[in-house]
Amino acid sequence: NIWITTNFGITNIVVVNDPARAPIFRYYRYFDQDGIGNITFNLHSIFCNLKGEILMGGMGGYIKTAPTPIQYKQSNSKVIFTALKISNNQIDVGEAIGNNRIILPKNIQLAREITLDYSDNNFSIDVSSMNYESPHKTKFAYRLSDDANWIKLAGNTIYFNKLPAGVYNLQVKASNNGGNWINESSNLIIRVNPPFWKSTRAYILYLLIFFIINAVIIIHTHKKNKLKLQMQSLKLNIEKQHEINEAKMRFFTNISHDLRTPLSLIITPLEKLLGTAVLDKSIKEDIKLIHRNAVFMVDEVDQLLDLRKLENGDSILNLSHGNLPELVKEICNSFDSYTNKKNISLDVILKSSSIRMDFDKNKIQRIVMNILSNAFKYNVENGGVVVTIDRVLGPEGELARIQVADTGIGILDKNKTKIFERFNQEARDSVYIGNGIGLHIVQEYVLLHGGKVEVKDNINRGSVFIVTLPISTTHQQLIEPEVVNIDNQIIEEREEELPILVVEDNDDFRQFIINSLKEHYPVMAASNGKQALKMMAKQPVQMVISDIMMPVMDGLELCNFIKEDIRFSHIPVILLTARTSNEHILKGLKEGADDYITKPFNLDILLLRINKIIEWGKNNHKAFKAAEIEPSEITISSLDEQLISKAIALVEENMSDPDYSVEKLSTDVGMSRGHFYKKLVAITGRAPIEFIRTLRIKRGRQFIEKSQLNISEIADKIGLSPKQFAKYFKEMYGELPSSYNKQLRSHNASNS
Ligand code: ADP
Repeated sequence: NIWITTNFGITNIVVVNDPARAPIFRYYRYFDQDGIGNITFNLHSIFCNLKGEILMGGMGGYIKTAPTPIQYKQSNSKVIFTALKISNNQIDVGEAIGNNRIILPKNIQLAREITLDYSDNNFSIDVSSMNYESPHKTKFAYRLSDDANWIKLAGNTIYFNKLPAGVYNLQVKASNNGGNWINESSNLIIRVNPPFWKSTRAYILYLLIFFIINAVIIIHTHKKNKLKLQMQSLKLNIEKQHEINEAKMRFFTNISHDLRTPLSLIITPLEKLLGTAVLDKSIKEDIKLIHRNAVFMVDEVDQLLDLRKLENGDSILNLSHGNLPELVKEICNSFDSYTNKKNISLDVILKSSSIRMDFDKNKIQRIVMNILSNAFKYNVENGGVVVTIDRVLGPEGELARIQVADTGIGILDKNKTKIFERFNQEARDSVYIGNGIGLHIVQEYVLLHGGKVEVKDNINRGSVFIVTLPISTTHQQLIEPEVVNIDNQIIEEREEELPILVVEDNDDFRQFIINSLKEHYPVMAASNGKQALKMMAKQPVQMVISDIMMPVMDGLELCNFIKEDIRFSHIPVILLTARTSNEHILKGLKEGADDYITKPFNLDILLLRINKIIEWGKNNHKAFKAAEIEPSEITISSLDEQLISKAIALVEENMSDPDYSVEKLSTDVGMSRGHFYKKLVAITGRAPIEFIRTLRIKRGRQFIEKSQLNISEIADKIGLSPKQFAKYFKEMYGELPSSYNKQLRSHNASNS
C-alpha cells in the first residue's frame, strides 16, 4: 500500500498479490476536487505514525490517511443518454418539431432508437455514467458502428454535424473511477432519414419518370418512323409519277422534234409556191389553207418544246431592246387565221405608240399569240377582240400593259387562276379541244420577264387578259424587223463560183435544199459530216450549210473540224437546227459557225443569209486591196487570221528583196504552194503573187506619203524596178506614183 505525493496530488498504488500470477498494481489518484485541497507537497515530508496513519506534509498543512487500506468500489454502472439537442435546442419528451414530428415519445434514457430528419443533421446527445462521486474522473468514448474505432470525448456531449442519411448504432462506453474502460457499452439506434430527393419514394418517382419518358420517346419514334415511312412511300409515288410524266414529256418532245423537219418540208415549198407560181385563185386559197394549218402545227409542236424547256428550267430570257407596241401590232397584223371564219373583228389600240424597253422578242410573240388565239377560239360568231397597249404606274415604277379583251364565252370566277396551270382546261362543253398548256406558257414567260398576267371579266361579256411587264432598259441593241426582199439580191459574178456544200441526213430535206439553191449557186451534197469532209478534201467549196443532228458526225463536230483545219478554215458555215434551243445556237456559234437558221425556215431568209456571207467576203477582198486593214477584219476564223498576219509579216520583212517569191512565202508559212494559193484567194481575193505585190505597192505609197525619198529610191526599198512600181501603182490607184507625189506636195504646200 504505497502513497506517493506529486505536484498534482496524491496517488495510492495498491499491490494485489495473486500467487498464481504476477502482482497487479492498481492506482488511485486524488486531486483537489477529491478534498485534498490545493496543496503543494514538500520533498521527503512524509511520515507514518504509531497508529499506522500516514501523514503527507506540504505548504501550510498535511494530509492524513487511515492505516487500513481503502476498500475501492468498482463503479461499473452503464452509460445512460440524458439529453438530445437539435441545433443546440434541448428536445423535450413529446415535443413536436418541424411538421409535427415527435422525436422523443419517451425519455431518451428509455429510448432504444431515435429517428431524425435529414434537416436535423446538426444535433448532440449528452451522456452520463451516473457516477456522481467523482464525475471528473469519468471519461467517455463512442463509436457509430461495431467496426469503427472508439472516439474519446472531451466532455459528456457527443456532437454530430451533417451526419449522412442512414442507420447508426451509437455505442458509448465510460471509464470508472479507476480510469478503466467499462467493457459494456450503451447503445442507441439513430436513424437519419434521407432528404426527399434521396428517399425511396423519390427513387420510385425517378423510375416512374424514367419509364414515362422512355415510353414517350418510344411512342414518338414509332410515330415518326410511321410518318417517315408514309412520306417515303409518298415520295416514291411522286417520283414514279414524275418519271411517268417525264417519260411522257420525253416522248412528246421526241415526236415534236421528229415532226418539225417534215413540217418544214411542207411549209417551205408551200411558201415557195405561194411566192412564185402564177396559180389559179382557188388553188392558191387551198395552198394558203394548207400552209396556215402546217404553220399551226409547227406552232403547237413548238409550244410543246417550249413547255419541255420550261419544265427543265432551260428557258432563259434573251433580252434585247425594242419598241413593244410596234411588235404587238406586228403580231396582231400577221394574225389572220381565225378572223374570217367567225367574222370576228380585231382592233389594236396603241394608247402609247412607243414603249422602248427590254424584252425577249420570241417570248413576247408567244405570249401575245397564245392569248390572242384563245380570244378568237373562245369567241362567238361576229364577236370582237380588242388589243390595247398602254403604260401604267405600278408600285415599283412604270409598267407596259397589254390587254386583250374578247366577247367570248368568258371564264368562271373559280377558274380564273386555274386556267394558268399546266394542262388545265375549264371543264365546259367547248367545241375546241385544246391541250391546256398555252396559258401556262404565257404565265411562265410573263413571270420570266418579271411581269404579271391576270384575267378579268369583260364589261358586257367575255374576258380580258391583262399582261403587265416592267419597263427596263438595260439592253440597247435594237430589234429591227427582218426585211426580206429577195428581188434586190442580184447575184453577181457567177463565173468560176465554187459550189455550196449541203450536209443533211434527211433525204427529202437535202433534196429540197438542193433544188432550192441550185437556181442560184452550184451545189454539192453530203449526208453526214464525215462524208462532207471527204468531199471537201477533193473539191474546194464556197460555203457549207449543215444540219446539226446527223449520224456518224454531227454538224457541230463538222463545224469544229472545218474551223480547225487550215485547208478549210476560211469556209463559212451555216448551221441548220430543228431545235429552237439557244444552247444549240450558242454551241454552234462557239464552234465557229458563221450563222444559223432554225427549221422550218423561210427559203428567202436562207438565200439572204448565204448572199450576205458571200457579200461580206467580197467586201473584204475590196477592203484588202484598198487600204491598210487588220487581218482580223477580213478573216472568219482565228486560224485564218494567224495565217494572214504571218504572211503579211513575212512579206514586210522581205520587202526590199526583189527575189522574194511565192515559193519562198508558201514555204515560210508552212503550206504547199497549191494550198496557199487557194487559201489566199479565198481570204483576200488575191493570188499570192498579187498579194505580195499589193503589199509592196501599199508600202510604196506610204513611203511617198511619209518620206522624202524619190520614186526610184522607194522602188528599190520595196524590191521593184522603178518601171514595175509605176505600172502596178497605176493599176491599183489609177495614177502614176510621180503624179501622186506631185499632187501630194502641192496639196501640202497649199495647206501650209
Ligand atoms: P387550251 O386553249 O389549249 O385549252 P390554254 O392554256 O390556252 O389551253 O387555256 C386554258 C383554258 O382556259 C382553256 O381550255 C379555256 O377553257 C380557258 N380560256 C382561255 N382563254 C379563254 C378566253 N379568252 N375565253 C374563255 N375561256 C378561255
